[in-house]
Amino acid sequence: MYLKDSKIIVIKIGSSLLIDDKKKIRKKWLTEFAKDIQELIKQNKKVIIVSSGAIAMGCKKLNINKKNLKIDKSQAVASIGQIELMNLFSEIFVKLKINISQILLTLEDTEQRRRALNAKRTFDNLFQLGFVPIVNENDTIATSEIKYGDNDRLASRVAQISGADSLILLSDVDGLYTHNPKIYKNAKLIKEIKNIDKDIEKIATKSISEHGTGGMKTKIDAAKICQLSGCQMVIANGLLSRPIKKITEENNCTWFLPKVSKLDARKKWIISSISPKGALIIDDGAKQALSNGKSLLAAGIKKVSGRFSKGDHIKVLDKNNYECARGLSSFSSNEIEKIMGHHSKEIEKLLGYISKSEVIHKDDIVEV
Ligand code: GLU
Repeated sequence: MYLKDSKIIVIKIGSSLLIDDKKKIRKKWLTEFAKDIQELIKQNKKVIIVSSGAIAMGCKKLNINKKNLKIDKSQAVASIGQIELMNLFSEIFVKLKINISQILLTLEDTEQRRRALNAKRTFDNLFQLGFVPIVNENDTIATSEIKYGDNDRLASRVAQISGADSLILLSDVDGLYTHNPKIYKNAKLIKEIKNIDKDIEKIATKSISEHGTGGMKTKIDAAKICQLSGCQMVIANGLLSRPIKKITEENNCTWFLPKVSKLDARKKWIISSISPKGALIIDDGAKQALSNGKSLLAAGIKKVSGRFSKGDHIKVLDKNNYECARGLSSFSSNEIEKIMGHHSKEIEKLLGYISKSEVIHKDDIVEV
């Protein structure tokens, strides 16, 4: 499928693309990159940028070296640098009329279902508002045990949560080579990888890559997450001008193909959840609608059992108390008690605020 048919695209850029070895900000590059984003938006694609650079920008501001920074100090440095980073994006992107927002995530936000679901909602709402979210790890509070530490894996989780079709990791190399291209003249760029086998892992550990935290190892880890989330991933050279355009036009990069479909991956994620928090008992009409792949609406709900919050994993039972589906509730149990049996159009009036019209969206429900 590659980029042409991708609706949601996550692009990760490393610190070295934003700041060069001499600590000079690569504004010209970022301007060209912004043109790429503008182009994607014109094609009606939704874009999320995962950008490193908080620590590098903080070091620049303080005129200190990144090396030997202790973790607590680096958190303060990241706090100083993150605002500089966003100012930089803001300065460049505003000229092209691209609206941006900031999202800072920790490991827990992506690993815990409810938080991940909330993050997904925020991404969706930002897309609707026409904004490009710019994500980084919340370095200021994440300690080493609960830290991603590299934005490659963070970006793959963001791709998974947001339901992205493609993740682009912009690096300082073209992709994964059979041998180190700086030493071996006959080294070949691997264009497509379906299976990450031992040979690929071996090549990746030997590869030299960008001076960011990651290197090729974390890119392969990211690719594994993407493959199981139904998202394709590409490692491409970000040092070039208009790097995204180059991917589509020249395709001189390494693609990792997904192993499962996106929807299957998401549904597996739903069903494999730890114990459901509650249940909804539904009527025959709603049961039939679920079998036809429709969402669960308030009108077909007869009873709520258990106490749960929005985003929680719940069971769906038929009128004989047999479990027929599982899903992620878009409403809390309290809210469902108020709206059950009613038409979706009445929800806003009953609750007093605007919310979703489906109690469980069809993408969030799996029949059992
Ligand atoms: N979150 C870190 C920063 O913004 C970068 C992590 C990485 O290099 O991947 O400085």
